[in-house]
Amino acid sequence: MREALSPASLDPATRMPANIGQEDTRLIRSGLDAGLPAKTVGPSVQKGSTVILPDAASLYADDQLTYGRQGLTAQFALRSALAELEHANGVTLYPSGLAALTGALLAVLKAGDEILVTDAIYKPTRRFCDHVLQRFGVTTRYFDPQQSPEELLASATEATRLILMESPGSLSFEMQDMGAVAALARSRGILTAADNTWGAGYLYRPLDHGVDISIQALTKYVAGHSDVFMGCASVNDTRLAVALEDGITNLGWSVAGEEAYQVLRGLRTLPTRLARQGENSLAIARWLSERQEVARVFHPALPGAPGYDLWKRDFSGTCGLFAFALKSGPESAVNAFLDELKLFGLGFSWGGFESLAISCDPQLKVRKFHTDYGGPLIRLHIGLENLDDLIGDLQRGLEIYTAKAG
Ligand SMILES: *Cc1c(COP(=O)(O)O)cnc(C)c1O
Repeated sequence: MREALSPASLDPATRMPANIGQEDTRLIRSGLDAGLPAKTVGPSVQKGSTVILPDAASLYADDQLTYGRQGLTAQFALRSALAELEHANGVTLYPSGLAALTGALLAVLKAGDEILVTDAIYKPTRRFCDHVLQRFGVTTRYFDPQQSPEELLASATEATRLILMESPGSLSFEMQDMGAVAALARSRGILTAADNTWGAGYLYRPLDHGVDISIQALTKYVAGHSDVFMGCASVNDTRLAVALEDGITNLGWSVAGEEAYQVLRGLRTLPTRLARQGENSLAIARWLSERQEVARVFHPALPGAPGYDLWKRDFSGTCGLFAFALKSGPESAVNAFLDELKLFGLGFSWGGFESLAISCDPQLKVRKFHTDYGGPLIRLHIGLENLDDLIGDLQRGLEIYTAKAG
């Protein structure tokens, strides 16, 4: 006869012995050893602050996981998958992409240090440098992302501890030779880090190019559905891995198992989504580059666009995020263009399954170098929708733009 499938805890033989505890104690402690051996395709999601240790000696053993803040099954499953993605030996998780950037910086910098940061950095990272690092005695100097690696390193000083790059840059998509910067920096004992959210660890792998710390907002492409925040920092150097782990322990950050599970689920379809979104973004970039309303297209994978040669040499593909400049027109016409869009949502963030658009100019005001891209700058994120529908949407918007710009 076939045995009934049931969790071990339904079997009287495995339940709490009848001689332990009163009824209330028994209820409080019941059902804990469900012991279901079923294997699913995803990891189990453990929820827990307390971790019950097997014996007294384990309470203070260095090699034991003793507290849930360190992460449980789903978080470790995600870290292991991200190590595969990033070609890394060590991966740390943070509660958002911005936290990954600030956490990595805090883990390796000290008072008196100076960092060189690309002028095209994600704006909230810049705010952290200017407002928080500055208060703790770390100086930030911004560099033109179009400077050559040699010029950049020539501007480094004795105090320079780290160079933070982002290529392509936020909003304006300048490309930088990150491998060349990393090699020159290493010979001077300067660390390099890259915000590689655009490359998603899949289209470009900073560690393979000699960058010391690869950081990304998993919120974007890896999670892929615009519904969860997380970030990671990946390294190959053991000392850096320890520094990042210590940084998280010191700051007290943790991520929830459910969210680690969600991000890992997104990772499963990352290559497939990127292939479709990249292909459609390139088709739309091409279409835009032929429109008379458009001054310039900033898409590194578009032949002839700024940074194309570096992209072609170093990247294995493209994602769905790029920008274009409209021919000069008033802000009211730019807003009319955006308001006409029905399929493109007006919203920040990107990397999800849906198409989005924003105007960029208000964010460019903090920049030190380029702020003029030939006209009002629009950033598009191309989602998984049908290409012709998206082009139709943009076409209607551009017609309104022409009508309003006069
Ligand atoms: C969105 C973004 C971040 C921050 O990620 P959050 O998870 O939203 O904190 C960092 N860098 C870049 C380039 C981004 O686009």
